[in-house]
Parts: sequence; structure tokens; C-alpha cells
Amino acid sequence: MSAHIKVGVLGAQGRMGAQVVAAINQAADMELVAALDVSDNLDQLVTSGAEVVVDFTTPDGVMGNLEFLIGHDIHGVVGTTGFDETRISILSQLLSTHPLVGVLVAPNFAIGAVLMMEFAAKASRYFESAEIIELHHPLKVDAPSGTAIRTAELMTNARASAGMKAMPDATTQIIEGARGATIGDIPIHSLRVRGLVAHQEVLLGGPGETLTIRHDSLDRVGFMPGVLLGVRSVISHPGLTFGLEHFMDLSN
Ligand code: NAP
Repeated sequence: MSAHIKVGVLGAQGRMGAQVVAAINQAADMELVAALDVSDNLDQLVTSGAEVVVDFTTPDGVMGNLEFLIGHDIHGVVGTTGFDETRISILSQLLSTHPLVGVLVAPNFAIGAVLMMEFAAKASRYFESAEIIELHHPLKVDAPSGTAIRTAELMTNARASAGMKAMPDATTQIIEGARGATIGDIPIHSLRVRGLVAHQEVLLGGPGETLTIRHDSLDRVGFMPGVLLGVRSVISHPGLTFGLEHFMDLSN
């Protein structure tokens, strides 16, 4: 490997991709060798010698991109959304034939959001009640957010491991939707409000106390330290890594 990590970006004209291009250009240990968008030929990634490629494209395009990267032994750092269990298993299969390649898929690259999920999972075994409120700009097409779904899954697993009972809830009369959508056993409430960016609150409650964990994404620049961490780490982590937390030392 050269002193500088040779990095390519897919979706380079997009909102996230453009930010990634700027972050890589500013990183002392990286060299931007390709910045491609939808109409460009992926072969440029090979001719430019890219070692790692960052993908912020679309759910429709990302699987084809990853097939190309893995087939050419190029590592991938993926922020594009839409990774369900089927896609994860296809990706694992592709990687099994190229054992030296690493791919990181991260539903959220904001360090604070990863910590929020970690803290929420840790706290959930200590509180009877737990609910999530996610708040976003009104142009967001999916609800609940991927981060809220992931948080709820982690909290559900933590509650199950701790043998927690169902949450207290005396609701018997309800207008549909009033208690939100439930993932695992955690209700999620999605707000879409002009002026907001991307925010999430996790509310936990026990007798006589509540704990609120809140994260606010205020600008796309907040995702960049996580993306750069992913680029640096994925080279030495062959196989599939799901979630940036696996590249953060959260034991301290
Ligand atoms: P965006 O502004 O629409 O950017 C996507 C870019 O990728 C566009 O320039 C698009 O070109 C291009 N593109 C589409 N298909 C491509 C392909 N097959 N190869 C190369 N380029 C392709 O979207 P965004 O806001 O940057 O978001 C991109 C993705 O990242 C979304 O899935 C979003 O949900 C996700 N995201 C993830 C995180 C995270 O932390 N994990 C944070 C923010 C956003 P055209 O416009 O010409 O199609």
C-alpha cells in the first residue's frame, strides 16, 4: 500500500458525494484518484488505482457498484441507504469469493449518532419504557429513518437479552398511528418539519426518572470524520462490516 490511501468517490456530484470529495482532498493521508457520477465509466476506478471507493449514490445503483468493486478487489465504504437482509446476504456471498476485500456499510456516519445508538442500547435494559422520536426536514422520503430503525433494533435486542417484560402501556382506545410505528418492541414517532435537518431523541423512563438521549445532525460536514475513519479502517478489515461502531473503540 502507498503512503497515501488512493480513494475514489461514486456519486461525486451528489450532496454527500461532493462533501466526501472535499473531505478526502483535505485529508493528509489520502489521495483522491477518481470522482465519478452516474454517467461515468466504473473502469476509471481500476485505471486510477483506487484502493478504497466511497459510495453515496442511490439504492438502485449501489449493488451494481459493489459487485464491480468486489470483482476488482477494491474496498468499499458505503453510505447509500436501502440495505435490507437480502442485500446484506448477497453482499456477503460476493465477498466470500474475494476474501481480501473489505466493505463497510454504515446506516449513519455521524460519530454522535453512532454514540447515541450505543448509549440507547446500553441504557434500555435499565428502563421499563423506551420510545424514539425522529425529526427530519419534510423532503425526506422514508419514515421512520434508517437510524431510528437501527436504534430500535439494537434496543430491542438489549431488552430481550436482559429479559425485560413488555413496556407499560394502558392504551385501549386509539386513533391509528397515534402510538407511532413499532420496530421490535420500540415505538418510533416520525416528525417532518420545515427548518429541521436530521435529529433523534430516545426517551427512556422508569419509576421517578427519565433519561433523554438526543443527537442533532446540523450539516453534512458532520458525517465526514466517520467516512474518513471508514476509509482508513476498511483496508485492514476484510469481509462485510455493518455499522461504523465496529471501527470505533467503544470499550473505554
Ligand atoms: P444525491 O444528492 O441524490 O446524490 C447521489 C448522487 O449519486 C447523484 O449525483 C446521482 O446522480 C449519483 N448516482 C446515482 N446512481 C449512481 C451510480 N450508479 N453510480 C454513480 N453515481 C450515481 O443524494 P445524497 O443526499 O448525497 O445521498 C446519497 C445516499 O446517501 C442516499 O441513499 C442517502 O440516504 C444516503 N445518506 C447516508 C448517510 C449516512 O450517514 N449513511 C448520510 C446522508 C445520506 P443523478 O442525480 O444524476 O442520479
